[in-house]
Amino acid sequence: MEKLKIAIQKSGRLSEKSLDIISEAGINLVNGSRKLISLSSNFPLEILYLRDDDIPQYVADGVADAGIVGENVYMEAGNQLEILERLGFARCRLSLAVPKSTEYNGPVYFAGKKIATSYPNILQSYLTENKIPAEIHVINGSVEIATGIGLADAIFDIVSSGSTLISNGLKEVERVMNSEAVLLASPLMNIKKKEITGEFLFRLRTVLASRNNKYILLNAPNDKLDQIISVLPGMKSPTVLPLAIEGWSSVHSVVNENDFWQVIGKLREYGAEGILVIPIEKMIV
Ligand code: ATP
Ligand code: ZN
Repeated sequence: MEKLKIAIQKSGRLSEKSLDIISEAGINLVNGSRKLISLSSNFPLEILYLRDDDIPQYVADGVADAGIVGENVYMEAGNQLEILERLGFARCRLSLAVPKSTEYNGPVYFAGKKIATSYPNILQSYLTENKIPAEIHVINGSVEIATGIGLADAIFDIVSSGSTLISNGLKEVERVMNSEAVLLASPLMNIKKKEITGEFLFRLRTVLASRNNKYILLNAPNDKLDQIISVLPGMKSPTVLPLAIEGWSSVHSVVNENDFWQVIGKLREYGAEGILVIPIEKMIV
């Protein structure tokens, strides 16, 4: 039977979260003894465990049909693949940073400077686009120490909280790209594999939607219902049920994580009471 081969990172920041999303999609994996490949017992899928840097090329070659990697790794690799879905984890950015005492006057600062990075292709595109002639010095790993040891004037690297930069006496001066884990797919899949990919994607989107949304219940005075409903779009529209006590209703809806606190603020302002927020196990979108 045809199986979809999905490459994920063997060990690193993406590994566990990639496995989590697959498992939340109801796909059980049976681990091979050497953990090079896992098969699923209930879905036509096979997992290949690889170094993240190798994943775009394996997908481009059709060795894997799809893969989960950081967008930074995909962009750096430069293969022409399709991003099927952004997965919302391993969020970070690629930024230029300089020693904190540097008087930084904008991107022209980098003209004639030496920049250390593990992402020469992304950096080169940025420099070319901004017409900055700088020298790129490629190093793999521990890029953040490059200025301290006199190897470079600046670095271009992954930043998430920024604490690594601070502890190395650096400051972030230009954000070049944002990144998160993405599901990549090969353009070479046959019809059967495309069908399996469709089902896999539907399940992933269900998981992402349930992660990104909360079920909300509250009590509303009837004279405030219109205002309250206006901030609760729900999936179609909110459910409104009468409470046993006269003049009040119970309102049920779904709120997106992104505007959650803003919505809660408005609901309180409009007189909602007894607000309950409940995680959603699965949300079919
Ligand atoms: P491999 O051995 O597979 O080559 P690696 O050392 O290159 O692993 P990791 O450090 O595990 O990679 O990071 C994998 C990905 O996680 C990065 O490419 C990036 O997309 C993301 N990432 C890296 N650092 C952070 C961070 N501090 N916060 C959030 N996401 C990050
Ligand atoms: Zn890597």
